[in-house]
Amino acid sequence: MGGRGRMRCKAPDAPQCEHCKRWATQQRAGHGQHKCSIYCLKDPNIDYQLRNAMDFAYSPRARQYMERLNAFMSEHVFPAEAEYFSQLKRGPLPWNVPPVMQALKTKAKEAGLWNLFLPDEEFGAGLSNTDYAPLAEIMGRSFIAPEVFNCNAPDTGNMEVLAKYGSPAQQEQWLKPLLAGEYRSAFCMTEPDVASSDATNMRATALVEGDEVLLNGRKWWSTGIGHPNCKFVIFMGLTYPDGPKHARHSMVLVPMATPGVKIERMLPVFGALDEPYGHGEVSFTNVRVPLANIIAGPGRGFEIAQGRLGPGRIHHCMRALGAAEMALEMLCKRALTRSAFGKPLADLGGNADIIANARMAIEQSRLLTLKAAWMMDTVGAKAAMSEISQIKVVAPNVAQLVIDQAIQIHGGAGLCDDLPLTALFAYARVLRLADGPDEVHRALIAKLELKAQAAKAVGVASVVTAGEPA
Ligand SMILES: Cc1cc2nc3c(=O)[nH]c(=O)nc-3n(C[C@H](O)[C@H](O)[C@H](O)COP(=O)(O)OP(=O)(O)OC[C@H]3O[C@@H](n4cnc5c(N)ncnc54)[C@H](O)[C@@H]3O)c2cc1C
Repeated sequence: MGGRGRMRCKAPDAPQCEHCKRWATQQRAGHGQHKCSIYCLKDPNIDYQLRNAMDFAYSPRARQYMERLNAFMSEHVFPAEAEYFSQLKRGPLPWNVPPVMQALKTKAKEAGLWNLFLPDEEFGAGLSNTDYAPLAEIMGRSFIAPEVFNCNAPDTGNMEVLAKYGSPAQQEQWLKPLLAGEYRSAFCMTEPDVASSDATNMRATALVEGDEVLLNGRKWWSTGIGHPNCKFVIFMGLTYPDGPKHARHSMVLVPMATPGVKIERMLPVFGALDEPYGHGEVSFTNVRVPLANIIAGPGRGFEIAQGRLGPGRIHHCMRALGAAEMALEMLCKRALTRSAFGKPLADLGGNADIIANARMAIEQSRLLTLKAAWMMDTVGAKAAMSEISQIKVVAPNVAQLVIDQAIQIHGGAGLCDDLPLTALFAYARVLRLADGPDEVHRALIAKLELKAQAAKAVGVASVVTAGEPA
């Protein structure tokens, strides 16, 4: 790294970073001001050169899981897809779980490919975000794969919340059946009546009354609530309307069977209901649950929401890239095997450029996503906030574009349900809104960038001042 001023500080009390064990340097700091760069979680002024250092190799553990997962996908998942969708259509209404799914889940469990997303060794596979990322990409090649391995949203996020913040009693009652794949769950935050991309707007209430919590309000886009095994939801509600902005809301566990919980309707996405999970509009009218159902305590909803989102975004982005890879494969196959005007489609117009651009965009997007995962593992979600928002914009946009181009090269066939392309397109398009719209992530990236640049300017000024002759 070298560079002017980058040397270990000789002051006797210069700190050593607890995380990486490196010593503080004097870079951009005057005497007596010790700065440890990226490695110290407490330092908001992350050094850009160090931030860009990364080992790109998959660990032996990740490679071993990738091999096993790929083999399982080829042997069991892809061959079962047609059967799954045919059973879904044939099954009793309103919605049912195709029996083939249970059979696949049993096999995945026996193969040790279960709960791979959960870094907690007690409850899950104990893989880091970096190790899990390529596995999420592999799962992204099939609509049914995430559930087969018990790695599907929104249950993954809910399991993470309960593993990290749940009381032992909550873990026993709600987490264990989720980990076993017996229960499904939903996350009820977004509301139809307020702009929910700003989560501080949430108006539904969760009021503490003695040893109970009273819930009232309306939620929508609650994914998973249509599943016949959806036994509970995590409800985000306003508890302290006059409290500090980020300490007003609570997260509450609500069994679906509680009086006052009503699914008003299921919401289609581009005309598809996404059964058997679906997305619901749900009313909560004078719903009472025990106080013990609040996760981590009243007013801690935002703190939990922050912890919930980081890993989920890596999962979503890597799955989106799996979908993009699949679309590019289909695009190339069509471009090589179909001819028009005396030539394969690949040789016509700008199609070669489209293919090259798609490959480059996917590669860039994957590297950025892996970097975000690696930063989450090494410096934590807070320090990786910008990168997490960056991938949340980049990966779904890349996936959407590549899938759209695959549709185009297939002509009319691309828009027919015989191929998975329209469903993949809807999936990528949804990701540009779910978990926060692109614009909100861009706003955060810009805010962090401006803050970092401003801090750099102050640092440079202090070095110049410290170096000036007396
Ligand atoms: C299929 C699907 C599944 C979902 N699953 C869930 C779920 O399980 N649980 C859940 O709680 N929610 C879920 N959501 C909801 C999703 O998270 C919200 O739709 C999203 O956060 C946006 O909130 P909103 O719809 O209220 O849009 P609004 O907040 O009304 O925003 C609308 C638009 O305003 C613009 N905008 C907002 N902020 C800015 C800004 N800072 N700068 C510039 N423009 C801006 C953007 O164009 C944005 O798209 C899901 C949504 C979909 C579509």
